Amino acid sequence: MIELLGLTLDQLRRQAVAWDLPAYCGNQLYHALYVERRWQFDQMTNLSRTLRERLLREASATLPGIEKRYPSADGSVRYVLRLAPDTNAEARKSPAERGRSSATTIETIWMPEADRQTLCLSSQAGCAVDCHFCATAQLGLIRNLTAGEIVGQVLTVLDAHRQELRPQTNVVLMGQGEPLLNYEETLQAVRLLADPEGMHIPLRKITLSTAGIVPGIRRLAQEEIRPKLAVSLNATTDQQRDAIMPLNRKYPLAPLLAACRDYPLRPWERLTFEYVLLGGFNDTAADARRLVALIRGLRSKVNLIPWNSVPALPYRAPTDEAVETFQQTLREAGLLAFIRRSRGQDVFAACGQLSLLEITT
Ligand code: SAH
Repeated sequence: MIELLGLTLDQLRRQAVAWDLPAYCGNQLYHALYVERRWQFDQMTNLSRTLRERLLREASATLPGIEKRYPSADGSVRYVLRLAPDTNAEARKSPAERGRSSATTIETIWMPEADRQTLCLSSQAGCAVDCHFCATAQLGLIRNLTAGEIVGQVLTVLDAHRQELRPQTNVVLMGQGEPLLNYEETLQAVRLLADPEGMHIPLRKITLSTAGIVPGIRRLAQEEIRPKLAVSLNATTDQQRDAIMPLNRKYPLAPLLAACRDYPLRPWERLTFEYVLLGGFNDTAADARRLVALIRGLRSKVNLIPWNSVPALPYRAPTDEAVETFQQTLREAGLLAFIRRSRGQDVFAACGQLSLLEITT
């Protein structure tokens, strides 16, 4: 069986040829999967009967299944999605282990607004980066997602809301995982999402957020087709950043900001810096002034994210006053700074809360 979801147009064309069919059958298949959004081969009425029969025998197009749905009072919905077992990982297991606990779940958030919907996608199940304030870190890395599983999150959730879709879809790669540590699959997913002949989500509506993987940022800089970039800065000295993001020992502030300064911004583009405000830790006016000095001269904006609580973690949310003052200091220095109050906190759908917490209602 060959899994088709996640294959590019070229790959589908090649597959068609491998099946002794004309290459354009690959185009038809691509259109059915990503434009018409049909995943049942017998419903792909744009395909010849021969091809449909072949697909039924030899191929699959597997979307993540909806395991649970947690609607928030603010209209957003946290989806816990079930992935099919990773067949490669499955093959490496001993016969006794096979089939056991291989079903993986991830989370995807649906956030509707007046004129658009934003989908927050996971790039990995769990995460290896270990930021101390983030719930997903506690899972560790479970596995990388395939391009099909990343794109599949969009297809599944859009389909679940097909009655109420707004004209524009935005995508943020800000769910579970560190996208630049699953580079190839994430970029393949971005190319599929952005293809004007396919899902057609413009690149300027797709944002990838990284904890600061410097080689990944430098590699992304070379890509012709790349999303917007957001960097989770979160601290203004190495000592402070080391304490909350162990990754900073490997990629400290100086090389991280050098990679940001070298990053080739497109004419319409700004770099985004995310800054999680941890009460009493990194939320003082002195922190704000250091932040100004660090990113001065960079065409950027700052998204301030008041910490969302995660049970058992030794942090607290900043006071409203600290948040306002912090923003004010940045603005007075001429920076663009926004306060991002996360949505879906009542259902653990907010930034840093994605760790499969079960809610008992
Ligand atoms: N791994 C990527 C993608 C995750 S994006 C990254 O680190 O950028 C999630 C954003 O939420 C990051 O900016 C992260 O720093 C922030 N975050 C993590 N835990 C949080 C929490 N408990 N409250 C608020 N923001 C949090």
